Amino acid sequence: MVVKRNCPECGAEWYSATDKDDWVCECGCLLGEELNKLPENKDRDAVEADD
Ligand SMILES: [Zn+2]
Repeated sequence: MVVKRNCPECGAEWYSATDKDDWVCECGCLLGEELNKLPENKDRDAVEADD
């Protein structure tokens, strides 16, 4: 399952299936699993899905 995380520092949106690991944003902010959200496709422009 793909999850989405929003960076609280720069607002970047990230998508990955690795929902148990910490991610690191391009700004250097650590994105923990507490930021996991389900992707919402209806209100968004096309997103980069990580297959
Ligand atoms: Zn960031």
